[in-house]
Amino acid sequence: MRDEFPIFRNHPEWIYLDSAATAHKPQCVIDALAKFYAEDYATVHRAVYRPSLKATEQYNEARATAARFVHATAEEIIFTRGTTDAINLVAQSYGRTFLKPGDEILISEMEHHSNIVPWQMAAKYIGAHLRYIPMNDQGILEWKGRITPKTKLVSLAHVSNVTGTINPIAEIGKAAHAVGAKLLVDGAQAAPHLKIDVQELQCDFYAFSGHKCYGPTGIGVLYGKKALLEAMPPVQGGGDMIERVELENTTYQPPPLRFEAGTPIIGPAIALKEALEFIERHREADFLLPYATERLQAIPSLRIIGTAPHKGPILTFDIEGIHPLDIATLLDLKNIAIRSGHLCAQPLLRKFGLTAAARASFGLYNTREEVDQFADALTEIAIKSSRDVRVSSRCSHKQEQR
Ligand code: PMP
Repeated sequence: MRDEFPIFRNHPEWIYLDSAATAHKPQCVIDALAKFYAEDYATVHRAVYRPSLKATEQYNEARATAARFVHATAEEIIFTRGTTDAINLVAQSYGRTFLKPGDEILISEMEHHSNIVPWQMAAKYIGAHLRYIPMNDQGILEWKGRITPKTKLVSLAHVSNVTGTINPIAEIGKAAHAVGAKLLVDGAQAAPHLKIDVQELQCDFYAFSGHKCYGPTGIGVLYGKKALLEAMPPVQGGGDMIERVELENTTYQPPPLRFEAGTPIIGPAIALKEALEFIERHREADFLLPYATERLQAIPSLRIIGTAPHKGPILTFDIEGIHPLDIATLLDLKNIAIRSGHLCAQPLLRKFGLTAAARASFGLYNTREEVDQFADALTEIAIKSSRDVRVSSRCSHKQEQR
């Protein structure tokens, strides 16, 4: 797989373990983007000249591919800038229109900030209550009994970007629908790794980002059930979202165009098609988590944050006596890239008694040898830091005696 990604030809020494933040791009995606700009570039929808018709055709094909990728229809697929943009769209359009003061929006303690802040903003605007499903020490949601008749909207990660937990979305979707609530799924960490079927998942909305799926930045997908999208107002005005504009009033296109104001994100959408097909061809190559977990578990002072039985390829951890930023800096000196800090999930880290953690995440280009180099480097760091802790505690003991 690694050979398909030109970045590693340019930097053969790189061990990239931050795919949960963003994934590198295979040659086919880079080619699709370059080909569009070099050979086929034109705007979509508006013009009758042939290049524009061809661009429109490619843009529509990209939408059809995204629809197939999540098992939906093309009219249920809105192109957004990413997951954050998609969740904000639902919070502003569906939330402000259909939620009432006193209604409950239910999210969880494990959410990424992008699935917390839009709901805080919506709840404040509406006068609704935001409730949180708690999580246990393994990083498993304790959701049973939390969905009540007051719950009107549930919004949860499919896969946590910190603990890696795969949540039982279909079961939660069933419980949400039993009380008449809608379910949004933040699929940012799931779409690159799991087969997504919005029918099986029983969700009303599903959001994910192109750049984590080996596609370009600036493009994302929001799936919404047709009937819901049809009932929702647009959040931005202008461009192809209109049907007719009068001086006093405007009527809108049906979905999905109603939600794609301005010139759409044409090139990245066309390249995303290539990226999604790439995932479909190669998903089975995603196999490193069990081996990496085994190697990290063998490091004595290392604690893995998130030990649910079903996980995406994400390993968050801390090592006694050394700050995560120092771990990441020391690894960087060996050309190993991991993420460190609050991981855009401050409430989750607080739950584990942390303000920062280190995270390794895996993509299709990673190898077993890379996991070995990473684990060996971490072992060295852990041994050295435990030695330093012992020395410094001996020093402070001597100082106290003095
Ligand atoms: N949700 C989760 C679970 C994520 O991991 C991320 C990205 N780290 C996002 C939402 C936001 O995605 P984006 O920045 O592409 O909008």
